[in-house]
Amino acid sequence: MKPVDFDYSAAETVDEALTQLSGADVKVMSGGQSLGPMLNLRLVRPSALVGLAATAALRRIEDASGAVTVGAAVRHAEFEDGKVPDPAGGMMQYVARGIAHRAVRTRGTIGGSLAHADPAADWVTTLTTLDAVLTLRGAAGSRDVPMTGFMQGAFTTALRDGEIIESIRIPKRSESVRWGYYKICRKVGEFAEAIGALVVDPGQRYCRVVMGATDGAPVVLDDFSRRLAAEGAAALSGLADTVRATLPDANPVSLRQHEVALRRAIQQVYPS
Ligand SMILES: Cc1cc2nc3c(=O)[nH]c(=O)nc-3n(C[C@H](O)[C@H](O)[C@H](O)COP(=O)(O)OP(=O)(O)OC[C@H]3O[C@@H](n4cnc5c(N)ncnc54)[C@H](O)[C@@H]3O)c2cc1C
Repeated sequence: MKPVDFDYSAAETVDEALTQLSGADVKVMSGGQSLGPMLNLRLVRPSALVGLAATAALRRIEDASGAVTVGAAVRHAEFEDGKVPDPAGGMMQYVARGIAHRAVRTRGTIGGSLAHADPAADWVTTLTTLDAVLTLRGAAGSRDVPMTGFMQGAFTTALRDGEIIESIRIPKRSESVRWGYYKICRKVGEFAEAIGALVVDPGQRYCRVVMGATDGAPVVLDDFSRRLAAEGAAALSGLADTVRATLPDANPVSLRQHEVALRRAIQQVYPS
């Protein structure tokens, strides 16, 4: 199938993008890796698309003392290639390498992935684990939304009509940071069926374990994270119960996959 006819213009500035976005049935496009197929299937039928891939302000990469801030149009491949300073012991570079295939990674962007909010995508879980904060911008101004409140369900976010993701701020972890990331998928380059992710930073008293690729937003396992910080690998004995309690409606295969993904991620930090 082919997309419906639409106008296209590339925005040079964020203000230009926001002005154009105020029109009826206008959508923004970054890498086009998720939007392209949706257009082809006519799941979306915009009157116009505004391209963000080359908008200079959305391509910025900033390394400040407490955080790394990236514009929404920074591509997966730029993380993979080490062009983004590392906020947390190499976790983002590792995760980027596992997203789809190189052809997708050279076009797909971090902001496009977050806005699309596919539960099985890698950045939504990773940035929840890293406690990132998004800056959203609309005609009325900017607001900051933590990743934990941004994704509200499958393909549902806190973005309001006329707003875009401008940037993502990722706190820098201390030198003592360790992380684990494990995704279960059928073939390399495919979306995950289960993701286990954690960041443990004793220097900052930070420990967060996240279950990704559920039916909705990534789930922060708060109680389990506290237990893991206190007990280390001994906390693994309670993992199966935690997974069952968190996903009461999941089938046995899915429960097992989530448990395995989390266990393997945790064992990267706490080898037994
Ligand atoms: C074959 C294939 C395999 C894939 N495998 C994986 C995988 O293993 N893991 C994974 O995580 N992802 C995977 N992806 C998805 C890929 O990472 C996409 O790059 C990503 O989902 C969308 O990014 P994009 O820049 O292409 O966004 P686009 O397709 O341009 O846009 C996606 C949506 O976000 C909106 N949008 C884009 N930018 C913004 C913005 N700045 N502010 C607000 N809204 C915005 C668009 O309007 C659209 O609704 C795969 C994709 C393909 C085609």
